[in-house]
Amino acid sequence: KNLVVAIDGYSSCGKSTLAKALAKKLGFIYIDSGAMYRAVTLYFIRNQVDMTDTEAVKDALQHIELNFHSRDYQSHITLNGEEVSEEIRQMPVSENVSEVAANKFVRKDMVKQQQRMGKSKNIVMDGRDIGTTVFPDAQVKFFMTADPKIRAERRFKELQSKGDTTTTMEDVFENIAHRDFLDTTRAESPLTRAEDAVILDNTEITEQEQLDFAIEQVKL
Ligand code: C5P
Repeated sequence: KNLVVAIDGYSSCGKSTLAKALAKKLGFIYIDSGAMYRAVTLYFIRNQVDMTDTEAVKDALQHIELNFHSRDYQSHITLNGEEVSEEIRQMPVSENVSEVAANKFVRKDMVKQQQRMGKSKNIVMDGRDIGTTVFPDAQVKFFMTADPKIRAERRFKELQSKGDTTTTMEDVFENIAHRDFLDTTRAESPLTRAEDAVILDNTEITEQEQLDFAIEQVKL
């Protein structure tokens, strides 16, 4: 049987950094589930899809095709054939993604696609509901946390390195807090630690220490 490593946690906790490193080390495929919600959000923004109109949401989902192309364990996603990996990290998407991700039709569609991707291949998938809803039987589960200030600093630096000069540290902090609030309080599979998930607080540890710890837990 194929193996699944599930990594969940709050926004900007370093989930994708760990997931990529782990996938590389284990020779597994890395899948960024957040990128899927972000790409759907980008489509909804561009097409002004009204989130309160169920039929419009369902119809929009029919017109969205997402694909991953992994090069070097970096995840690249296409939305209807267009490479959108950079655009989905920018603030307009970050500001709307948690509303979109709270929609039950959006979730149903994404979860189905994610389960299909993990059916026959060894994967590391990160997100909010991977160990609880998408792969409740995953062999290894992590739940990541980190100090909110550190998280905001990291994300702020990342945005700056991409040339974003308008977003302030305050904006980033607020966005992270806002997304965490919506992600943990939504009705549809809210962010919560799976009972069998190993907690990993990466506030104080280096990326290498984190990887070493995670590898130790993967007794496959
Ligand atoms: O992982 P990332 O921060 O890019 O995810 C963006 C948003 O997508 C999260 O804040 C959350 O609202 C949503 N998400 C989700 N379930 C997942 C992954 C992401 O609801 N499995």
